[in-house]
Amino acid sequence: MIDNGIEKVLAGNYCIGCGACAVLDQSAYEIKLDHEGKYQAERKAVVSEDLSSDLLSSQVCPFADESLNEDELGKQLYGNVDGIKHDAYLGYHLKNYAGFVSKNSFREKGSSGGMGSWLASTMLREKMVDHVLHVRPSEKSELLFSYAVSSTEDEIIQGAKSKYYPIEMSEILNHVRNTPGKYLLIGVPCFIKAIRLLSLKEPVFEEKILYTLGLVCGHLKTDRFAKTIGWQLGIHPDSLQDIDFRVKLPNKPAGYYGAKVSGEVSSTVVSHTSPMRETIVNNWGHGLFRYNACDYCDDVLAECADITIGDAWLPEYVSDEGGTNVIIVRNPRIARLLTDFKEELTIEEISAEKIYQSQAGGFRHRREGLAYRLFLKDQKNEWHPKKRVEPSDSVSNKRKKIYHGRIPLLDEGNSAYEKAFEANDFTVFEKYMTPVLNSYNKLYHRSFVIRIAGKIIRVARNIITR
Ligand SMILES: Cc1cc2nc3c(=O)[nH]c(=O)nc-3n(C[C@H](O)[C@H](O)[C@H](O)COP(=O)(O)OP(=O)(O)OC[C@H]3O[C@@H](n4cnc5c(N)ncnc54)[C@H](O)[C@@H]3O)c2cc1C
Repeated sequence: MIDNGIEKVLAGNYCIGCGACAVLDQSAYEIKLDHEGKYQAERKAVVSEDLSSDLLSSQVCPFADESLNEDELGKQLYGNVDGIKHDAYLGYHLKNYAGFVSKNSFREKGSSGGMGSWLASTMLREKMVDHVLHVRPSEKSELLFSYAVSSTEDEIIQGAKSKYYPIEMSEILNHVRNTPGKYLLIGVPCFIKAIRLLSLKEPVFEEKILYTLGLVCGHLKTDRFAKTIGWQLGIHPDSLQDIDFRVKLPNKPAGYYGAKVSGEVSSTVVSHTSPMRETIVNNWGHGLFRYNACDYCDDVLAECADITIGDAWLPEYVSDEGGTNVIIVRNPRIARLLTDFKEELTIEEISAEKIYQSQAGGFRHRREGLAYRLFLKDQKNEWHPKKRVEPSDSVSNKRKKIYHGRIPLLDEGNSAYEKAFEANDFTVFEKYMTPVLNSYNKLYHRSFVIRIAGKIIRVARNIITR
């Protein structure tokens, strides 16, 4: 075995479990769900003596130093497109929009504006693709959701809405390799990057996966995220049968969405819905049950995807309970599709700056925060993946404390879950986590002295300008 990138990725807990290595070299790697409920690549006990195979696997791993980064891949894919622009946050971008689908019930059934399911259905209808690879309720009993192939609008709709849940692509990509057809792949940024890397090694994927749709991504969640929501709402983790992470609540702003869980309680299947904000795991800044790898990713907007969609977390759109997408188009064929079918959509062009603002929190964590986390790793002489962001501690003291404070929340959440599970009592999780989260939340509070100083400055300013 050589001391290569993928081995360091696995040893350092930077694996996102996408499955690219296992697709490329089935004799060396397989994808398994680990004890925390996240997919991880595992090296098989019997490994090939051929060291070039290790190197190849590293070249398709989105977190290994041997693979191309998003700027390099983006340039190959879109660098020559007429009229394309590039910036450090959006990557390449041809057109940027905010809006929603006005046709049929795509918006009602989707997480945001329904663009994901509309685009997939329209590409099928227009015969741009024969099948869509996306995440639907799983037919395997141990998991609630998994990647599946959809070939009809009904199937697409069955898969609508965001799954904040572990998923992997090895099975579905083996299917693609062995089955003729043209495909659209929907995925989070690192999964889209993985498919681009894999296509460079196995052209069959480039030939068959003709289009990619990226989802804006904060981070991936282990299955404990879903289980904890269910448990708080009265369904034991072992009995959870279904979850809708994005219930649109009537007369509430888009950001005030709910979660609906279903499962067996005393031999009867029950369903409960609650505003997400009332669940203990709701704050994406806390990042409970995230993958560690996500803290070392700098791609928020799926820069290697033909089109990226996310939530328009902007003041001018959030009050609309129906949900609104931000949309970044990189592929001219998809730009044309949006224009051709504009009567089915209510969209307006917006600036790259607005797209950035819609994900400002994500960018802070993934750029400034990442630079600081890399700096901390360097201080401890620990290996970390090479990123487009350089290690740096030129961050304000307050932000340092916040980024620092987020790191242990991952392990704390897992310890709390394990203790609660062992005690078979959800209140153990709450009692453990409440002081931990309260102490982290205090990092956002301004100190008494700073608040008084601010007040004095404001009063003085008022007197001077009067
Ligand atoms: C893990 C995760 C984190 C996200 N973080 C952010 C964020 O920080 N900011 C933001 O603005 N948006 C984020 N999103 C995207 C957002 O939640 C919506 O998915 C997006 O706005 C599309 O909504 P829609 O109504 O247009 O799509 P819909 O019509 O609901 O279609 C969504 C499509 O995506 C597919 N899909 C759902 N989950 C997955 C998955 N895990 N992997 C692959 N395909 C999937 C579905 O099968 C469906 O085809 C995230 C999504 C995920 C899955």
